Amino acid sequence: MSTINTLPNYINGQWCASSATEHLEVINPATAEVLARVPLSPATEVEQAIQAAAEAFVSWRRTPPPERVQYLFKLKNLLEEHFEDIARTITLECGKTLAESKGEMRRAIENVEIACGIPIMMQGTNLEDVAKGIDEMMIRQPLGVAAVIGPFNFPGMIPFWFLPYALACGNTYIVKPSEKVPLTMQKIFQLFEKTGFPKGVVNLVNGAKEAVDAILDHPKIRAISFVGSTPVAKYIYSRAAANGKRVQCQGGAKNPLIVLPDADMEMTTRIAADSAFGCAGQRCLAASVAVTVGKARHTFTEAIAETAKTRIVGNGLDQGVEMGPVINTQSKVRIEELIQKGADEGATMLVDGRAPNISGYEKGNFIRPTILQNVEPTGEIARTEIFGPVLSLIHLDTIEQAIALVNTSQFGNMACLFTNSGAAARKFRYEAEAGNIGINIGVAAPMAFFPFSGWKDSFFGDLHGQSHHAVEFFTQTKVVVERWPSDWSRQF
Ligand code: NAD
Repeated sequence: MSTINTLPNYINGQWCASSATEHLEVINPATAEVLARVPLSPATEVEQAIQAAAEAFVSWRRTPPPERVQYLFKLKNLLEEHFEDIARTITLECGKTLAESKGEMRRAIENVEIACGIPIMMQGTNLEDVAKGIDEMMIRQPLGVAAVIGPFNFPGMIPFWFLPYALACGNTYIVKPSEKVPLTMQKIFQLFEKTGFPKGVVNLVNGAKEAVDAILDHPKIRAISFVGSTPVAKYIYSRAAANGKRVQCQGGAKNPLIVLPDADMEMTTRIAADSAFGCAGQRCLAASVAVTVGKARHTFTEAIAETAKTRIVGNGLDQGVEMGPVINTQSKVRIEELIQKGADEGATMLVDGRAPNISGYEKGNFIRPTILQNVEPTGEIARTEIFGPVLSLIHLDTIEQAIALVNTSQFGNMACLFTNSGAAARKFRYEAEAGNIGINIGVAAPMAFFPFSGWKDSFFGDLHGQSHHAVEFFTQTKVVVERWPSDWSRQF
């Protein structure tokens, strides 16, 4: 008899076994150990969650904002208390190092903290005497039921770009985590249960395409947040919008770092390596292309190659490990094929991380840091999202050429510049077509009190996750124009 745990859903304040006929195995990418089975829940279970959330909305929206955030304060404390355990779970199912998992959960908690400010953030505006004796006000009201569809690479953090704001604003919520990494949300929902949110306010449905499509099509879903690959982002954006929903979709990326000759090379190399190889390159803000300008070429190339070769790769739970595996064998094969494609296109293999021997973890999905040199700027490898620990080097003569290269990209998630020149930094910040800009920063991840931006094919929608954008997204504005008879004493 199998001892592998099949994960339940959490609907209407209760853990419930799914009636799914299809399941997937959740596999530790470092060891190939099967951790659990995740149900691919049918549309009927999504429907149950939506009905529960719709019923809960009636009284949740009437709960005063200062009371609603008390649940978030409790949640924050519980997340702190269980911080280590959740971080460990992220590493087990996702592969990143424990330090990276902790970093991820820290950002999740920061978003809860910011959403606790909703009694101020949700305020509207007003003006007395817009005409004689007439006052006008704009108030914000919640939308109803909202949902998030998450990717595999940040199972703890990404739902928190949206969820705390949605709840604090008075919406009720459904989380559909990535079927590759469903364990982290199981842990977090155990904490939601302890927090004591009224039943139906927050729900968890595991699944894949059928569950997603049920969310996209259901008339009671008012708003959808998606984070994942660009083709799926486009699909979700168009189908949800066609169904009249508010929708924000963050997609893939191909992030360039530009290195000018006046940059502090020691710092630049360290930061560039962390950006390209951190989380095994499976970060939407991972550097994928490094463009050296002028004399930066030689110093940067030598130093980054050395850093890549010496990075310690292994099980993210082991002490001292700096980079874990990629998510699954399909991903490993795809990344290795793309590396070969780069070589076939004429790039030089400066550091080849394919087929490494990671002692004790022979079954893991490991690729060591890889660097391709003299990559053709118009070739496939320079333009395709690899989502693995692979850095392509391109050399150009001027910052103008480098910015032009940045701006020809299909994606616009992040672009970074390394320099000591304020004028160059300003030019870059002004001209680069990307939503998140780093100046001497390799992972320009906005703090919870700034929107997580993203342009072009890295984002579909207008309002982003986190902070004020999230409050705008999860509320609808109502404008009231009022006139009262001036002789009020007549009424008594
Ligand atoms: P993915 O697009 O494969 O899956 C994301 C979600 O969509 C999952 O929950 C999955 O169940 C669902 N899904 C997948 N295919 C679907 C389909 N055909 N119909 C309906 N639903 C579907 O993405 P992933 O591999 O989990 O995540 C990696 C991608 O996410 C990368 O492209 C990365 O750049 C991107 N990402 C972007 C950001 C950002 O902020 N822009 C952040 C993190 C990850």
